[in-house]
Amino acid sequence: AASPSSVMKRSESVLETMPEALRQSRYHMKKCFLKYVEKGKRMMKLHHLMEEMETVIEDRDEQAQLLEGLLGFILCTTQDAAVVPPYIAFAVRPNPGFWEFVKVNSNDLSVEGITAKEYLKFKEMIVDEAWANDENASEIDFGAMDFKLPTMSLPSSIGNGVNFTSKFITSKLYAESSCQQLLVDYLLSLNHQGEKLMINDRLNTISKLQAALIVAHASLSSLPNDTPYQSFELRFKEWGFEKGWGNTAERVRETVRFLLEVLQAPDPISLEAFLSRVPNIFNVVLFSIHGYFGQSNVLGLPDTGGQVVYVLDQVVAMEEELLLRIKQQGLSFKPQILVVTRLLPDAKGTKCNEAMEPVLNTKHSHIVRVPFRTEKGVLRKWDASAKIIEMMEGKPDLIIGNYTDGNLVASLMANKLGTTLGTIAHALEKTKYEDSDMKWKQLDPKYHFSCQFTADMIAMNSADFIITSTFQEIAGSKERPGQYESHETFTLPGLYRVVSGINVFDPKFNIASPGADQTVYFPYTETSKRFAKFQPAIEELLFSKVENDEHIGYLEDKNKPIIFSMARLDMVKNISGLTEWFGENTRLRSLVNLVVVAGFFDPLKSKDREEKKEIKKMHSLIEKYQLKGQIRWIAAQTDKTRNSELYRCIADSKGAFVQPALYEAFGLTVIEAMNCGLPTFATNQGGPAEIIVDGVSGFQIDPNYGSESSNKIADFFQKCKEDPGYWNKISEGGLKRIYECYTWKIYANKVLNMGNIYAFWKQLNKEQKEAKQRYIELFYNLHYKNLVRTVPIASDEVKPAPASR
Ligand code: UDP
Repeated sequence: AASPSSVMKRSESVLETMPEALRQSRYHMKKCFLKYVEKGKRMMKLHHLMEEMETVIEDRDEQAQLLEGLLGFILCTTQDAAVVPPYIAFAVRPNPGFWEFVKVNSNDLSVEGITAKEYLKFKEMIVDEAWANDENASEIDFGAMDFKLPTMSLPSSIGNGVNFTSKFITSKLYAESSCQQLLVDYLLSLNHQGEKLMINDRLNTISKLQAALIVAHASLSSLPNDTPYQSFELRFKEWGFEKGWGNTAERVRETVRFLLEVLQAPDPISLEAFLSRVPNIFNVVLFSIHGYFGQSNVLGLPDTGGQVVYVLDQVVAMEEELLLRIKQQGLSFKPQILVVTRLLPDAKGTKCNEAMEPVLNTKHSHIVRVPFRTEKGVLRKWDASAKIIEMMEGKPDLIIGNYTDGNLVASLMANKLGTTLGTIAHALEKTKYEDSDMKWKQLDPKYHFSCQFTADMIAMNSADFIITSTFQEIAGSKERPGQYESHETFTLPGLYRVVSGINVFDPKFNIASPGADQTVYFPYTETSKRFAKFQPAIEELLFSKVENDEHIGYLEDKNKPIIFSMARLDMVKNISGLTEWFGENTRLRSLVNLVVVAGFFDPLKSKDREEKKEIKKMHSLIEKYQLKGQIRWIAAQTDKTRNSELYRCIADSKGAFVQPALYEAFGLTVIEAMNCGLPTFATNQGGPAEIIVDGVSGFQIDPNYGSESSNKIADFFQKCKEDPGYWNKISEGGLKRIYECYTWKIYANKVLNMGNIYAFWKQLNKEQKEAKQRYIELFYNLHYKNLVRTVPIASDEVKPAPASR
């Protein structure tokens, strides 16, 4: 049979094809749609639509025939449907980032296209009819502010904002000479604590600058490449140039050449190359507020996971890259990076009660902790920007937020100081709960979604650029909308309706994937570097027969390879799922042992409901499948150096890492394992699907199909038994992938380039940016401030917000 997608061409809209689809099997469809409206107003998901169709059309062949046709395709791409009899409104998403809305009248099966706004109204009718029909209901439209902005149109360009933006700037520079003058003005504004850089006022027009550059370029051609800048500095100064072009004649010549190219006939490559050399970033502030932000003994504490690792590694990489760039530009300034977080008086044995702490492995970076409360109680006001300016002896050049709380603060501060803003949110709350928008009132007392979504909208719209780890974070996959995509349109009935929240085709989105600290996570083959001192402890951890607070279960046959997993013990991470797959698959059990690092063993000690449940489930699975002798369950580990050696010891056993999460935004453990040369099986739901090329640099497994996944793992070990070279091949494939795409150096380079490009773009786009900022301020003052009053001030007894990494 023809596949559904071949029946409906991409160019055709649902509105065009749906009437025909319904006509093809009018009799069944009529019954089906009557069934859908029978229960009255409600939301339906794809699986509801399918299940109810199956009850109406009992004949399996007929069902199959229907699903293979147009209707099957339309249904399969339906994200949800709002039933308000006699209508059913469909939100259809044929491809990432593309949405279409139609309503079908169940009486006569007539189909009509509707706007996103009308679709949202259908959703609202289900929960709050009066508000849905209120003409004065508050509507938010950030898109209305973007009238002059370029947006991309190719799905493959999503997440490649720097590239598109430099093309767009190029075309503006080409077409408008006023923009060229803006480039000169931008260069004139560069300085470090008042000291001018690149050019001075003598070169304040295009023609003067161009003429001086030509002279400079000619004079540099006669100098040996390695001539230090100092030896021609004076001559340069006479022509109107200041420091910042490069440290040697060669580098200066290249920089001059890039700018000459840009001024003569702008092209995006020269522009990007030139802007990436412009010294405009020395001081960076990062915000990472929730959880225990510290450098030791914090992992595993509430709300404290990969994010802390991510931010700290990011600082190290960024400082290194800044130092290199500053040096290469012939400057000797010190870069400074501050990570701003909360000061926690009750630090639970961590250093989170210290106001300031140097970041390990950096020269000039610090963690600064802001007091939220003192012995006297909650502190209502504390001026972090004044503190930052004092410490940096000036304003920051770049501010980067992390997560909802950090991003909101970052956006407020960036706006106040006029600094370029980047935001990062690896896990926005909105997509974590079904229909979290329309059910907000019900969920608000527990999760404060209204506040959270409002803060997220403010931050993502204020941001000059948004950093994501994966494409999926922005625009999802074929089946699942991305987390930013889910903010395009949504509604909080009774509060406001968002008709245009953010556009995933906005060139502010950029993918920059993190890496792992390669001084710690390095291949098992680099024997001389290995942390041998941990090996006895790891031997005990894996193989001793005792059960204690740190480990339970044991491994009878020490010679078998080990499949290993490590994660927080929450449901989504699915460690219990992996344990169950292992339990059920006798072939896999005969080939390997299972070792998991997760949570701890006593449910009574857990404060988290979900974690308690998972702990109990682990115990019952071990019991049910009689796993003792083949499983080692180790409690959460906090020492990353020792953990890295653990990954390598698993590699010594010729084992594998398994990341079985039901959904994973990125998956740092996947990167860590691959860096250690450990073949990795990771979930195909979320980020890891982009990291691993199936069968080449590791394997993808579907957490929804346990036995298929466990068989895939078993097949691998079977094959390794027959051909030991196969294990090496996958191990090396993983390392190759990491070095090409997932290192902190690549990351830091990309992020600093973003800082360069968007800082200039911000100048070109100043008026519109300001207009939008005014709109955001209104939104903040009228909505956010009111909403935040409904959130009780956390006391120690209140459970923290849902965990994120
Ligand atoms: N981790 C750890 N000990 C544990 C569990 C996890 O040190 O018991 C570390 C792990 O090495 C990784 C991070 O915590 O660096 C988890 O990041 P990931 O992206 O896998 O998941 P998250 O917890 O952030 O959702």
